[in-house]
Amino acid sequence: MKIAVFSARAYDREFMNAANTIAGHQLCFFDAPLERETLVLAAGHEAVCIFVNDRADAGILETLVSGGTKLLALRCTGFNNIDLKAAARLGLKVVRVVAYSPYSVAEHAVALLQTINRKIHRAYNRTRDSNFELDGLMGFDLHGKTVAIVGTGRIGLVFAKIMRGFGCEVLGHDKFHSPEFEALGARYADLVEIGAKADIISLHCPLTPETHHIVNAEMLSRLKRGTLLINTSRGGLVDTEAIVEALKSGQLGGLALDVYEQEADLFYRDLSSTVVSDDVFERLLSFPNVIVTGHQAFFTREAITTICQTTINSVTEFATGQVLSNEIKSV
Ligand code: NAD
Repeated sequence: MKIAVFSARAYDREFMNAANTIAGHQLCFFDAPLERETLVLAAGHEAVCIFVNDRADAGILETLVSGGTKLLALRCTGFNNIDLKAAARLGLKVVRVVAYSPYSVAEHAVALLQTINRKIHRAYNRTRDSNFELDGLMGFDLHGKTVAIVGTGRIGLVFAKIMRGFGCEVLGHDKFHSPEFEALGARYADLVEIGAKADIISLHCPLTPETHHIVNAEMLSRLKRGTLLINTSRGGLVDTEAIVEALKSGQLGGLALDVYEQEADLFYRDLSSTVVSDDVFERLLSFPNVIVTGHQAFFTREAITTICQTTINSVTEFATGQVLSNEIKSV
């Protein structure tokens, strides 16, 4: 099948080509993201393969379908950027990578947590300048602290296991209770209790209308002073302007982000010679107790291998009329 692969970086090309060795689909790679201006590139491709910040609203899906596209394959888990109702109406099948290494994201969340807690980002800069002062670098033991996990699915569960290994008390918040999570000696709590007890909050739920800005001014006002917040899930889970206020007042003790609500205008490109016009984002970067990575939590060899193999398998299933194991059913 002819597949148009959008937002294709060098690593996408390498791992997609490797995954396609046996299947032999025709891969056409485009550096550009899928958006209105680049839609023309997709014409004549039965499958279109996109990533987290590509746009797939109703208008874009209509043009894809009229250009001959029958399958939309996401190289990611989250699908908040897809108009699924429009896809269903147009008869466009949508597949995603339901599960790849949950360790990739959970382990990155731990790396972010310990960086912000132990001030590794500041120590790195200091020691390169032969400054070996410790003032301002004090952190705290994770042992005995309370960690709250919002969303105890695949990634949240791995994060919980790691936190239990550190000797933390673990609280969870989820619509569904996972026996595996409770078997760790962790327990579920509502957001009020989490606010009162957590020293660290890590977000691992999907972005939905229900979870949009789940971390807002009201929730922030209920936190223990100095709580650390880690978000490796989706930027829209937090109200960034409220976060800036909570950082300024000291209510929030530190913030580590791998995702940002307006990241589509920033991430996955080199803007180092440009003036970034997003003032809220620039304000965030100005805090010494904030670190940002550019949506790289998934970025391990194991995860990319599985993502590309699953994507190619989904296209093969579609091409050969099999049941789509990773189909996203319409909402
Ligand atoms: P999952 O489906 O296994 O788990 C998500 C959990 O969130 C589920 O247990 C679900 O019940 C829960 N949930 C849903 N609505 C909720 C709500 N209103 N309140 C609390 N919990 C709720 O998904 P996963 O594989 O663990 O991935 C979680 C998220 O991580 C994805 O949706 C995606 O946004 C994000 N992600 C980020 C990266 C990255 O590179 N930064 C990579 C992969 C996934």
